[in-house]
Amino acid sequence: MSKTRAIIVGGGISGIAAALALDQIGIEVAVYELRPVPATVGGATNLTPTAMRYLDHLGVLAEAQNLAAETRAMEVFSMDSGKKLGSVFFDRADKTGYGAMRITRWDLLSSLLAGAKKKEIPIYYGAKLTEIVEEDGGVTARFADGRQDRADMLVGADGIFSATRMKYVDPDSKPVYTGCVAAGGILEASKVKAPIHFKDAAVNLSENGMLVTAYCNRERTNLYVAVTMSKKDEAQEGWTMGEKEASETKDYMIQRYASAKMPCIKEIIDSWDDQFYWPVRMLKTQRAWWKGRVCLIGDAVHAMPPNGESVGFCLEDAVLIATLFQRRGTASPDAIFKEFESLRRDEMERAREDSLVRWHSAGKVSWLRWKLRELCAPWYFWWTQGGRDAAYGKDVRTMI
Ligand SMILES: Cc1cc2nc3c(=O)[nH]c(=O)nc-3n(C[C@H](O)[C@H](O)[C@H](O)COP(=O)(O)OP(=O)(O)OC[C@H]3O[C@@H](n4cnc5c(N)ncnc54)[C@H](O)[C@@H]3O)c2cc1C
Repeated sequence: MSKTRAIIVGGGISGIAAALALDQIGIEVAVYELRPVPATVGGATNLTPTAMRYLDHLGVLAEAQNLAAETRAMEVFSMDSGKKLGSVFFDRADKTGYGAMRITRWDLLSSLLAGAKKKEIPIYYGAKLTEIVEEDGGVTARFADGRQDRADMLVGADGIFSATRMKYVDPDSKPVYTGCVAAGGILEASKVKAPIHFKDAAVNLSENGMLVTAYCNRERTNLYVAVTMSKKDEAQEGWTMGEKEASETKDYMIQRYASAKMPCIKEIIDSWDDQFYWPVRMLKTQRAWWKGRVCLIGDAVHAMPPNGESVGFCLEDAVLIATLFQRRGTASPDAIFKEFESLRRDEMERAREDSLVRWHSAGKVSWLRWKLRELCAPWYFWWTQGGRDAAYGKDVRTMI
């Protein structure tokens, strides 16, 4: 009997994770990626215990850990007083099973790709999906350069602008701009002479908004800095920063944060380079998660404003789909995809609502609101830690 075969569209985090997870259970996979070569854009990403668990399942955790900065906690500081307001703890492996880390996007993708290479998973680059056709018990994907492939199913892991979604599964579902841009960069830690006020990572708050600072490589020679800015139009399409955006972002940071009580903040703002600039978009409630033999995962189906957890959600999707195929052996792809949606939809909608609230509260607030926030923050972080531990301790492999 021939092996079940899957086409995966998109060679980002979700796509390579899905390839590894399906390969692990004996499904033959082929990945098609738009970019001509492996590449990422953007800075560094925080990986929660959820993400760590599934990187471990996929066999690439050690590789990634070797490149990343361990993050025992995300400390929260007031830029007005320099005082610590609380912490989001990740060093509770006794409760969650795993810790956390901050890693550059490139190092994360490289770790996944190294895993795919070991398994000899074929990845075809420069492949832009243009059409999907289902017929005679199979699905065919066609690409802009004339290539085509046929398989038993197709997984669309092609990000927020997913062609799988917009050409086949749910053509009316278009990304919506949130009115905010995320921007920042990476700098050499040695450029900062003032004492660094955080151990691994910090969210620095003021009435003017929030600045994230964190180590992002194992040797702790690099720091990551990121900020969110309200911006009415979304003229800038890509991730790279032109000169105008770079000086606008730096001016914004200086104006709002250079007077912070922690002197290293000013030095960090002055020294950042290797910049990224990202108009933040999201998907509204997604009507369809799948159609026939085609299913969406990752940002293609639940892109939301940054919340520090999305990579975990992407990896979780990949592992859950593979686990369903493994446990429901004889079920058809559409039955598996239906179950996948029923297990996932509500949770992802709640996560999107949560991140929207957090996202909109990350900007400038009134002085009174800020002072109340400063006052309540220690209780808030203490009170909510149990809920976070429970969420990070959840394992989709035991849900079915
Ligand atoms: C500024 C910022 C900060 C963030 N911070 C965090 C964080 O700290 N922690 C966290 O967990 N998450 C974070 N996220 C979210 C996280 O980065 C995303 O959820 C995740 O990268 C989505 O992965 P994906 O593989 O689903 O999509 P993508 O990374 O978008 O990958 C999609 C892939 O599909 C390819 N593709 C697109 N169209 C086609 C086509 N037609 N044919 C073939 N291939 C195609 C693309 O080239 C790309 O390689 C952040 C996001 C941003 C923007």
